[in-house]
Amino acid sequence: MSYVDDILARVKTQNPNEPEFNQAVYEVLESLRPVIEKNEDAYKRDALLERLTTPERSILFRVPWVDDKGQVQVNNGYRIQFNSAIGPYKGGLRLHPTVNLSVIKFLGFEQIFKNSLTGLPIGGGKGGSDFDPKGKSDREIMAFCQSFMTELYKYVGADTDVPAGDIGVGGREIGYLYGQYKRITGLYEGVLTGKGLTYGGSLARTQATGYGLLYLTEEMLKCNGKELAGKTVVVSGAGNVATYAIEKAWQLGAKPVTCSDSTGWIYDPDGIDGATLKEVKEVRRARLTEYAKARPNSVYHEGKGVWTIKCDVALPCATQNELNLEDAKTLVANGCFAVAEGANMPTTLEATKYFQDSGVLFCPGKASNAGGVATSALEMSQNSERLSWTFEEVDAKLKTIMVNIFHNLDAAAKEYGMEGNYVAGANIAGFLKVATAMQAQGIV
Ligand code: NDP
Repeated sequence: MSYVDDILARVKTQNPNEPEFNQAVYEVLESLRPVIEKNEDAYKRDALLERLTTPERSILFRVPWVDDKGQVQVNNGYRIQFNSAIGPYKGGLRLHPTVNLSVIKFLGFEQIFKNSLTGLPIGGGKGGSDFDPKGKSDREIMAFCQSFMTELYKYVGADTDVPAGDIGVGGREIGYLYGQYKRITGLYEGVLTGKGLTYGGSLARTQATGYGLLYLTEEMLKCNGKELAGKTVVVSGAGNVATYAIEKAWQLGAKPVTCSDSTGWIYDPDGIDGATLKEVKEVRRARLTEYAKARPNSVYHEGKGVWTIKCDVALPCATQNELNLEDAKTLVANGCFAVAEGANMPTTLEATKYFQDSGVLFCPGKASNAGGVATSALEMSQNSERLSWTFEEVDAKLKTIMVNIFHNLDAAAKEYGMEGNYVAGANIAGFLKVATAMQAQGIV
């Protein structure tokens, strides 16, 4: 058996009940085969892949809090500090009932390579809880966040581990978490990113993942002799990433026609109206049925279905494994020629392969959604400098980072004889920097 096969078997045996984590490791290691084979003896001697697939630290904790009826509730809290070879752990916190150890480990593992691809000095980590923020009052959200941070503060810090938002964690939650950290430690430091603008947040952080996704998509199309302007785009999700992907798609001359949430989806033939979407989701925190009421030409459907709409470009921006083989076949049959992931691992392995075999330009999330964490790292820089950059400065840096990420993964794919395979390119480019740093730092 090759070293890669050994490790895949090992990860499976050691983590038998973690399908998402096994899926993420498989996707990365499969595409790293040519790189690993080139250096197999050294990597094997140093157990580099064993170390890479084992978190440096896994923190699991109880999160007790009191609901509005006076009832004590208990959730599971997680922080996986996966790899700090190239910088302090960095990665979001997810609050969603589907959160478990497998999900957080898959996200933390992916984060290692994503953060490396940004070219910035940040290691990989991820955290969260199975707490469901839906239907909770502000006071309940605060009670949960304060309890979560009362345990988490022991393990994070501006130079050790800097969490951010993810599904279910936006500005409100970051504010409550930050307040509690400051209260316990007495430190006013950049321990979290995605902060409000009045207390150390960065302009353009809110928009960064969605905007970055479109900057990279535009560059990918340009380098393949196509352009984004004038194209029809389907988007899934209606949260932070989807909202600002839709906004930037319009700005770059494309027409986004769908969005979705966990109960249904919208097709708007006139193009999704960003202001209405923000009003429904960011302000009123309501269902998408409210969008349909405000836009009579649009149609609301229950369940899943955005991938059935005819389009040129598809941008999955909701959650993992939301685009399967059947969806991929439908998209290709309808003429879709480019897919860029806004969410983390939204496309199943089979669907990814189908896109690649069908000649669809396919960019994996660890590259195309890296704008969020990259701008978080820019927030860390501003906090360290005690300065705030303008929106235009941050946005310009974000665009440069996204364009560079695309060129780096394109070059890595070419160097290893896999031109156009951006999954392999992203994994290789992300891996090489981390592996070199790990080897330089000895057996730790
Ligand atoms: P939000 O919580 O703001 O939005 C998530 C959206 O996806 C919501 O519309 C939500 O619907 C929908 N959704 C969530 N879970 C499911 C599910 N199981 N089935 C169907 N729909 C679902 O999260 P973000 O926009 O921040 O994150 C979206 C994705 O992007 C995630 O994969 C995240 O990891 C990734 N990402 C986010 C970054 C960021 O900066 N925010 C950075 C990089 C990646 P509903 O409201 O009904 O639950």
